[in-house]
Amino acid sequence: MSLQNNRLPEEKYRENFADIHPPFVESRALIEANRCLYCYDAPCTKACPTGIDVPLFIKQISTGNIKGSATTIFDSNIFGAGCARVCPVEKLCEGACVCNQLHEEPIPIGTLQRYATEQFIEKNIQLFERKPSVGKKVAIVGAGPAGLSCAHVLAREGVDVTIYEKESKGGGLMTYGVAGYKVNADFCQSEVDYVLGLGGINVEYGKVFGKDILAAELRSNFDALFLGLGLGTTRKLGVDGEGLDGVVDAISYIYDIRTKRPSTIPVGEKVAVIGMGMTAIDAARQSKRLGASDVTMIYRRTEKEKPATDKELEGARTDGVQVVWLAAPQTIKGNGKVESIVCEKMKLGPPDSSGRQSPVPTGETFELQVDMVIKALGQLPYQSLLDEMGIKHRGGIIEVNGMRQTSVPGIYAGGDAVNGGREVVDAVEDGKLAACGILHQLGLPYQHIKLKTQVN
Ligand code: SF4
Repeated sequence: MSLQNNRLPEEKYRENFADIHPPFVESRALIEANRCLYCYDAPCTKACPTGIDVPLFIKQISTGNIKGSATTIFDSNIFGAGCARVCPVEKLCEGACVCNQLHEEPIPIGTLQRYATEQFIEKNIQLFERKPSVGKKVAIVGAGPAGLSCAHVLAREGVDVTIYEKESKGGGLMTYGVAGYKVNADFCQSEVDYVLGLGGINVEYGKVFGKDILAAELRSNFDALFLGLGLGTTRKLGVDGEGLDGVVDAISYIYDIRTKRPSTIPVGEKVAVIGMGMTAIDAARQSKRLGASDVTMIYRRTEKEKPATDKELEGARTDGVQVVWLAAPQTIKGNGKVESIVCEKMKLGPPDSSGRQSPVPTGETFELQVDMVIKALGQLPYQSLLDEMGIKHRGGIIEVNGMRQTSVPGIYAGGDAVNGGREVVDAVEDGKLAACGILHQLGLPYQHIKLKTQVN
């Protein structure tokens, strides 16, 4: 057994990495939109981290006002089209829809959102105008959803924005860290182009913060600085055999799948994926879709405590992914390359700081024959960089106030670097909040900006 690429015919790769959720045609969108009860104080809107006025945009679809519907969505979330594809709607808007209480299928808010927005991205039809320049300059580190959301709000208000991005493309985890069958590279590029199409935002690609571009330089050349750094390297397993060939981290693995042709990506015959978050699910499903015959996810708690949603797990099981609950890796065995993984069985103990029951070792072990191990254990923050800048943090997670200002006046932050790794939609709201903070600092009005919770 060993890692191998080209396991499948090219046609099969195309099929396996094609859009998993086809969009609505007009007739289906109208049927679904007309099911909405247009609730007062709508729970779906409350559940959206960017506070999109869901009943309004659905009403606009039902009356044929697609431009109005897209404007409603983009005004709260300029990544509304991408979020429509990648948001775990089952635990956000659709999970909160009152239809669930009526024992009916929830309104398919995500797919309706996609229906309303996608054509504006594809045709690059701008729905907002940038105000004339106000002569203020803001630097942003990171062209991910947090950075681009912040940039878009600022640019609309006439601020001149420069973004420094370490990669050759924008979009952050949307472009590099999400499974290709949820959102493909062409769409991600179109969405970034759409955000930049407003004007007033210059992106310098291939610039690594702390190396090619320094904080002191940005602070002296700009009126404010926003950090949308994301997170760094994947956490280590800390077990023997972690350095063997065939042990990879999920973030790098998904990055490779996103930046190369799937047929060129080597995958094992039998793969173990450690973790049960969304990245672990994406890595497991993509391994199967790259041609692995057996993929097993290993998680140290039970299904009840898993971070992934039921829908995500159901998708993985539909792809043929197996799950072993209550198990933690103890050793990875092999002679130069992975041959097996030894796991210890766990049981549940008292709740830990996360509020979930903690995994407790039982001393009993079992061994799985695998030739690839994918680690999806979360990522480590950029702690030393923050220390150098004198920014307060908790274990690398940046401390911010309601307007996302850090402990250093004039420096703002948002996204994974602040929340430890949540959804794209959370990063978008952080970007908006930080933009309000920056506008306030610059003496510019910000009260009209659509937020989930208004800030003063
Ligand atoms: Fe429509 Fe459901 Fe939202 Fe009510 S909760 S407004 S029915 S989508």
